[in-house]
Amino acid sequence: SESSDESDGPTKTICPYCGVGCGIQIAQDDEGEVTFRPWGDAPVNEGSICIKGGAATQSVNHEDRLTEPLIRDDDGELREASWDEAYDLIVDEMERIHDEHSAQGMGFYGCSKAMNEENYLIQKLARRYGTNSVDTCTRMCHSSTVYALRNSLGAGAMTNSMEDLEEAADVFWIQGANPGEQHPIANSQYFRQAVLEGATVIQVDPHANKTTRSFDIDETDRHMHLQLEPGTDIPLLNVVIKTILENDWLDEEFIAERTQGVDDLKETLEDFDKEAAAEECGVPLEDIELAAEKYAMANNAAIFTGMGMSQHTCGVDNVQNEINLALITGNLGRPGTGVNPLRGQNNVQGASDVGAMPNVLPGYRQVDDPEIRADVEEVWDFEIPSEPGLTNVEMSHEIGDTIHGLYIMGENPVMSEPDTNQVEKRLEELDFMVVQDIYETETAEYADVILPATSWAERDGTVVNTDRRTQRMRGVDKVHPNTKHDLDILCDVGQRLFDDGSFDFEGPEEVFEELRQVAPIFHGMTYDRLGEEGIHWPCLEPGDEGDPYLYADGFTTESGYGQIEGVRHQPPKETPDEEYPLILTTGRIIEHYNTGTMSRRSETLNRVEPENFVDVHPNDAETYGVEDGDYVTLKSRRGEIEVQARVTEDIKEGTVWTTPHFADSAGNRLTNDVLDERAKIPEYKAAAAEIEVTVEA
Ligand code: SF4
Repeated sequence: SESSDESDGPTKTICPYCGVGCGIQIAQDDEGEVTFRPWGDAPVNEGSICIKGGAATQSVNHEDRLTEPLIRDDDGELREASWDEAYDLIVDEMERIHDEHSAQGMGFYGCSKAMNEENYLIQKLARRYGTNSVDTCTRMCHSSTVYALRNSLGAGAMTNSMEDLEEAADVFWIQGANPGEQHPIANSQYFRQAVLEGATVIQVDPHANKTTRSFDIDETDRHMHLQLEPGTDIPLLNVVIKTILENDWLDEEFIAERTQGVDDLKETLEDFDKEAAAEECGVPLEDIELAAEKYAMANNAAIFTGMGMSQHTCGVDNVQNEINLALITGNLGRPGTGVNPLRGQNNVQGASDVGAMPNVLPGYRQVDDPEIRADVEEVWDFEIPSEPGLTNVEMSHEIGDTIHGLYIMGENPVMSEPDTNQVEKRLEELDFMVVQDIYETETAEYADVILPATSWAERDGTVVNTDRRTQRMRGVDKVHPNTKHDLDILCDVGQRLFDDGSFDFEGPEEVFEELRQVAPIFHGMTYDRLGEEGIHWPCLEPGDEGDPYLYADGFTTESGYGQIEGVRHQPPKETPDEEYPLILTTGRIIEHYNTGTMSRRSETLNRVEPENFVDVHPNDAETYGVEDGDYVTLKSRRGEIEVQARVTEDIKEGTVWTTPHFADSAGNRLTNDVLDERAKIPEYKAAAAEIEVTVEA
């Protein structure tokens, strides 16, 4: 059936934007128009909603929706085609690329806005085709976090849940994250509530923002903002850790019983000069020491980490240092503690959980382990390629060399990847690209075949939110009759390519049943058991209630111990010089979402923030002759954009701040595509830049 709605009333589903996973309801009128309704007792948000969630259905009804398959003719123009014609072309081209270049000639992009079942199928399609080159934009936001957490604690996800954090944490250490804008309901309903009840917040960020303002609750010292220079997170945390070591604020019992590597940390910091480091960070030493004391003295202290930490070439080490801090103070394995990445999109956690990654199979099981492959092969009944594949940025870099075709489900690399002028040039050289999406995105402009998909509001499936809660989404009827669900498209393509039954599924529940067999973290879940409340993974056996917090009894690393490892400062790969004297850093705003494909099509959101801008410190504004409201050209070694200047003390002197959301002035035309060597995440958060006034206000 098109819809799982069992009554004439509104349908309960999950907001399609951020990883908080708020429950909403949607209703559909006779014309097919979909509208928002609150879901008063939704498990995560209890009816509260932010501006994006309330406006989400505007993207479903938008006139830009793709309604028919499109094929690019030899003259370069797109024309309408039947599904059969589009599928035939896809199969012919994928077979040709396989014959001419081997399976390694294709790359596959899953989607962090698509559901678990759909991401499960696209990674299965890639592996059945013969390559592990499948990835999603989880690479761009938290691959470094996932890498560090998996290596040092065991699981690449939030250690705790929003509920236990609100109830038990005395200190919230929020570094490089801005939940006031990016996770608004988590911020207002959980974190701010905890602060109103007496908890302390320590925010570490170069930019004052909605999070900063949301905690300026009273005149007490329960909110500190350490406004550091971009890219100095390691030295700042090293000052914190050294202060804890000097004062003997360690949890010796926890360190002895549950960790390995503390001597390495002590050795790394033996000659560490706290004063010089604090100066490098641009934060008074006594403020960092006070923050260290507050964290170390708390009964339960929780760390929240965001893309300000992960999107650096030292992203893995940034997060490792947060893990070090939590481990030496024993702040793991009980409510109100932990190291907690705030995940971006509504299913960015799930997309990697179900294996849309080049190095792991569903459930984070290493693809290069023959025993694991054999285990999964028993269910899949085909041979899985053994070599880990390419990440998404690597696939993009390899276009014209080893990559000749791309299959893109719902992602928009022309806006989301760094140095997008180069991404566009490479896509022009690509032999063949399929895009399945709900709009003709900036990336679809380079596609040979565009397949019109149904939106989030029209489909059933499951998503995993930021605290590992797996929840069901439920759809209303299709708005456009000739669109197809992503899951059905993948099944159609898979059946036509292989004709061996491996893509023979009736619907999402059947796909979930197969996922449960190959991914132990989901094994105990069924659609029925998920119900309306959802379950936090790991849920290993039927009847298992799931784990709101991890590591109560031990870590799930190979050794069973939490791994401490000293790390040293690594400056960004590009630092200011005479030609480019400023540091450019990027971030998102509450009204828009990532590449803006959905949020820029929402009247409500566009009314508030219709165009891009750059934050400039008043002293820099004076130096470069910029007045508030001027249009300026912001340049880096890779490109330039024209944006309006906002002169504000929110940003640190010497740093400018812009967003990636707007197609005509996208921040990623400027960002640097250097990668963290291990996690392959790009350095979105620091590039050298200059600014020039083009039009005075
Ligand atoms: Fe949607 Fe996130 Fe807003 Fe909740 S906080 S309504 S999940 S965008």
